[in-house]
Amino acid sequence: MRVSKLFTKTTKQAPADEVAKNAQLLIRAGYVYKEMAGAYSYLPLGLRVLDKIKQIVREEMDKIDSQELIMTSLQNKAVWEKSGRWSDEKVDVWFKSALQDGTEVGFGWTHEEPIVDMMQQYVQSYKDLPISLYQFQTKMRNELRAKSGVMRGREFVMKDMYSFHASAEDLAAYYDKTIEAYKHVYDRLGIGDDTYVTFASGGAFTKFSHEFQTICDAGEDYVYLHRGKNIAVNEEVLDDAVKELGVSKDEMERVKSVEAGNIFNFGSQKGEEMGLYFTDKDGTEKPVYLGSYGIGITRAMGVIVEKFADDKGIVWPEAVAPYRVYLVQIGQESTEQADALYRELQDMGIEVLYDDRDERPGRKFADAELLGIPYRVTVSDRLIKENTFEFTPRAIGETELLTREELLAKLG
Ligand code: ATP
Ligand code: MG
Repeated sequence: MRVSKLFTKTTKQAPADEVAKNAQLLIRAGYVYKEMAGAYSYLPLGLRVLDKIKQIVREEMDKIDSQELIMTSLQNKAVWEKSGRWSDEKVDVWFKSALQDGTEVGFGWTHEEPIVDMMQQYVQSYKDLPISLYQFQTKMRNELRAKSGVMRGREFVMKDMYSFHASAEDLAAYYDKTIEAYKHVYDRLGIGDDTYVTFASGGAFTKFSHEFQTICDAGEDYVYLHRGKNIAVNEEVLDDAVKELGVSKDEMERVKSVEAGNIFNFGSQKGEEMGLYFTDKDGTEKPVYLGSYGIGITRAMGVIVEKFADDKGIVWPEAVAPYRVYLVQIGQESTEQADALYRELQDMGIEVLYDDRDERPGRKFADAELLGIPYRVTVSDRLIKENTFEFTPRAIGETELLTREELLAKLG
């Protein structure tokens, strides 16, 4: 992609009402557009990042035999009344509307009830189980506050997965498998070292549910870490959990964090509520066991920005960067060489953002830093005469002079 053709332009200022660092940087760099508080559009650069995050999640969910689908945003009131969760007292984030004939509908804030209801058509016998399904879907939640940028949207992309089982044991085994899959996801996103499997409240069947909490100053949660035992507990269940785990609060450190994911064992509760039963081997009718597993996709993008950004801008880990190389051309005589390198890198399968604009070098370098592309490569009249290229990794910020062969070897 040529920067001259990008319709987005970088800016020095973020909107005055935007307080979150992640959104300020993402807006200034042209990754997102703020429609209103808690609602962001993802522009071409931002969409590339989201697609990278999704692809990592997709690969890991596929590995545990989950199948991708996409469900509707419009939801049926009658389905939600079965579990009692249509009520605004039970669920305080509903967006609701009505059809022209007056029929009420909801906008999906989760798909737990709708997917369990849907599965009545596909699950009859134990032979139909287990099943695991997931989607990347835009969730709507009427959040009270939206001050954390893309980390808390009123509209946001979630990966939600649901697994259906014939027994508690089968669900428990899949739940554990999912924990491992999630660890792989956060490792690949570059935040694995700071992301803890955390004991949290809930679990319809088990005493605790599990959150994946990433240590982050901009987070809205607090977790207690036991670094020695590698245990993390959400503040809201601290007393209960320390008793259960046999650790002392004094050995734990309170840190700010953000919930990057959440997994939940519903046992047979949802099956019973929603009437999802199957015929077991012995001929008896039993409720299906349900697990529910979320990852905040747009939130992950915000967390990554918060954690790695420096005073010059965003710093993307390679795995999620929209492009791998930011190619800067400087001067009047080296355009042809820069064009040739642009083509050559693309032929090697390297994603390149090519700053071919007629702009001051300082502006180009500043934009390269704000955008956070992992490797800046500079081609200039002077460098070409010396047969060298500048190579500057964004995270380190130090420039090396490389020959063409050395450069291609680094990027190859
Ligand atoms: P939180 O405690 O942060 O409000 P939650 O417990 O309501 O989140 P879940 O219903 O478990 O979240 O949703 C699954 C995942 O979706 C969360 O772990 C989080 O990563 C993401 N998520 C939840 N709410 C939002 C939001 N408003 N904006 C962006 N991502 C969100
Ligand atoms: Mg939560």
